[in-house]
This record gives sequence, structure tokens and C-alpha cells, in this order.
Amino acid sequence: MTFKRCILFLADGARPDVLCQELNRGNLPNLARYLVEGGTFETILTAFPSTTGPAYLPYLTGCYPGTCNVPGIRWFDRAHYARHGWSFKSFRSYVGLETTLFNRDIKEEIQTAFSIYKNPVNILNNIFRGIPAGNNKTQHSRIWYIYYAHLTDHWSFVDSAVTKKIINSLDQDPDFIFAVFPSIDEYSHRSSVFNPRVIQAYRDIDGHIGEVIAALKKKGWLEETLLVVVSDHGLSDTHTHFDVGPYLEEKGMKTFFYTQIFKRNFKGATMVSGNGMCHVYLKHPDGWQRPCYYEDLTENGFLLEEFRNRPEIGLVACRGVDGSIHLLTSRGQGKFKVNNGKIDYQFDRYDPLNLCLKTYSLIMTIEESLDITLNSHFPDVFVQLDQIFSSPRSGDIILSANPGYDLRKRYEHPEHKASHGSLCPEHMKTPFLMSTRMIRKPKRSVDIFPTILELTGKKIPPSIDGRSLFIL
Ligand SMILES: [Zn+2]
Repeated sequence: MTFKRCILFLADGARPDVLCQELNRGNLPNLARYLVEGGTFETILTAFPSTTGPAYLPYLTGCYPGTCNVPGIRWFDRAHYARHGWSFKSFRSYVGLETTLFNRDIKEEIQTAFSIYKNPVNILNNIFRGIPAGNNKTQHSRIWYIYYAHLTDHWSFVDSAVTKKIINSLDQDPDFIFAVFPSIDEYSHRSSVFNPRVIQAYRDIDGHIGEVIAALKKKGWLEETLLVVVSDHGLSDTHTHFDVGPYLEEKGMKTFFYTQIFKRNFKGATMVSGNGMCHVYLKHPDGWQRPCYYEDLTENGFLLEEFRNRPEIGLVACRGVDGSIHLLTSRGQGKFKVNNGKIDYQFDRYDPLNLCLKTYSLIMTIEESLDITLNSHFPDVFVQLDQIFSSPRSGDIILSANPGYDLRKRYEHPEHKASHGSLCPEHMKTPFLMSTRMIRKPKRSVDIFPTILELTGKKIPPSIDGRSLFIL
């Protein structure tokens, strides 16, 4: 069956286990009736870094953040800095006014859903490349909504406003609606993942989806509309913060980091996302134009060992000169290389990933690697590190925080009591609900975009990372 339109509800920060618990208690009657019964409810994996913005990209493009060359909500472009020095094209933070530059920063050849559908609508999402004029319903008001809610902590007001905009936009007969509900994420950051206010936000979103369904019924459109509910990341409670940039400064390395960006002649840069991940960039002795590989880092430095033994950090990753990716955890050290669709993983004595392997090396396919890592501390670690390091804007070192910790302290207001961004299961596992069934079990967020295109009769762009769930 081909659907005439798709409405994608993005419940930012929704966790599959909380959703499941609330479904079982009968607290999400609309999701249960219109999406779960006769449809789909699965836990899938988002993209790394598991954070708002970069992790929306798979749903809008079918590509990973690394493929889109947007490897975090903050990044540093060492090649641009080497050529042009301090300039607003050399670094970025999408938190604040620079959010408007997101669309320009995505790799040129990447197509979004907004350029594929004829009459798409966008609500409260800052990624809208290709959208026709007038169809971005919050182009001018998004910052106002977010600023107002930030000051008043009134995020449920924003979710209600998003719902009204979805219902109003139905009058222009859209074929694709992408709508963001920010309240679960925002209430979690300020309190706890399981705070009653957060749980209420799940129930309220179910009510909002019920309102949209009622509006669709009134028009006689319910059966011809594909309903999809996703999240871009989970969250975990945070008890301790660790500021990577100031830590490097204490070690004597002049470091560039947000919000301390008016600096020159720095030797390092740190860019935090979520706040559970961090890109670390180091100036090579030959200059910023040259990346620092694993071999450079072990020859001259102390950092890899220091980072991997810190309690806040779960995983340290960097590139080798031969194209391999090195992994370091408190358990051990290893490396892997991706070649012709195969992953060749090797480690010394102790497996850093604790995958319970019987040998010191393993060759696996991309799909096998997901099954092998799915229930580990680092789900889909091989594919996710490979995609993020494919971006020239990625750090020389990538840090992923342990649950309970995050990587930003002094410069975060209000203080985050829950975080996301890292490669841990609590952040990577997300819910996927759809009002129809598929042939193949969904696993990664990049597969949702081609699946929606297929279900609505659209051509899937070539060379995307995802694969339709209707292709075995
Ligand atoms: Zn968040």
C-alpha cells in the first residue's frame, strides 16, 4: 500500500523502555491503538553522537552525521582554521544563533526529505534544507519558542503549540510533516530521566498525537496517512560533570572551547555534544593542517592514557595512519578497520569492548557487527565510529562518556541533571513506532528515511547509508 502522506513525530529524548512501561500501564492509549496494534513498535539505534540535530539527520536524509559532515552540535574545522585562521567558518556550535547555519554546513550533495516531497511541512526543527518558502512553520518563531521555554521552563506549552501547527497545516494538504516535541528532553535535562514531570510529557505527547489523529479522521485521511514516532536519543541521569577543555588548560595546553572562543595560538580544541561526547583536536607539530594520528598521539603525548583511565570516560577513539580506528577503554586496547563491507577487529590481551569473544581478532560484516555489539556497553560501535571519523570535521580523539557522567560543567546553564550524546546503550537506544508493518526488523535510524520514502511512493536517493525495511 502507498500512503498519500507521512507525519513524523519526533519525541526528542524519548527512551524505549519508558515508552514500553507507559504503554503496558495503559497510559499511551493513542499510540497503543493507532501505531502499536497492527503496526510496529521496536527499539532501534540512533546515530552517534546521540544528540539533537546530528541525530535528526538520519531521519531526514538517510545518512549518518559523519556522511553529512556535521559530526556534532559543536565542531572545529582544522583545515579551514589552518588556511584562514580564526573565522566563523572554522568552528561551530548549533546551541544559540549559529543554529541557523546548520543547513549550509550539511555536505552539498545530501538531499533532505524537504526537497523530495512536493508539499512538505517543518515544525520546530532547524534542519530544513530544500523546503519551499512558507512551509517552514516555525522559521521565525522557533528561537522565540525555545527562548521563552528556556526562561520559564514551560516546555509543555511548546509541545501544544507544535500540535496546533500540525493540525493547522493539514489545510494545505501536505505530503510530509516533520514535527519536533522537545519537552521530554528538556524536562529530563532539568530533573531526571524518570521524574514524574518527564513521564507526564510522554503521556501528553500521546494526547497530542490523539488530537492530530482526530483531525485526520475528520478529513477522512487517517487510513491514507502513515504515522511514525521516533526519537533522536535516549538519556541517562548525570551525577558528575567533567569539563574537558578546562582540564586541558589545567594541564598547560591553551585550549579553544565554547564559550571561551576568543583565543588565538591555542594548541587544542574541544567540542562537546550532548553532553556525553567530545571531539578533541590537537595541533600537530607541523601545524593545524595535519591531523594527529594514533602514532603521533602515543609518540608525544600522555592524553590517551589519561583519558582512558578517567572514570568519566567510557571510550576513547582515534585514527591510525593506515586508516584503522583505535579503541581504548579502562579494560584494554584494540583497533579495527573497515574494508569492502567487512570489519576486521583486533585487540591485545583484554578486549576493550568486553564483547566476550573467544579469540583476539574477529572479521565480521556490517550487519553481524550490529548483532555482536547490540547488547554490549557500546552498541553498533564499529559502524558508528567509522561513520563519524569519515567527517573531516571530526576530532583527532573522540571521547564517549560513561553513564552518570558528562563532559561539560562550568559553561552549561541550567546544570544538566540528565545527559545524552555518548555511545552507551541508554543514549543510543530509541523507540520506533509506525502505523504499518514491515518485512525486515528495523535496527538503525538511517533505515527509517528510505522506508518512509518507499511507503509514500517516492524514489530513494542513491548512495544513502540506510536501506528500506521492505528490502530483505
Ligand atoms: Zn538534549
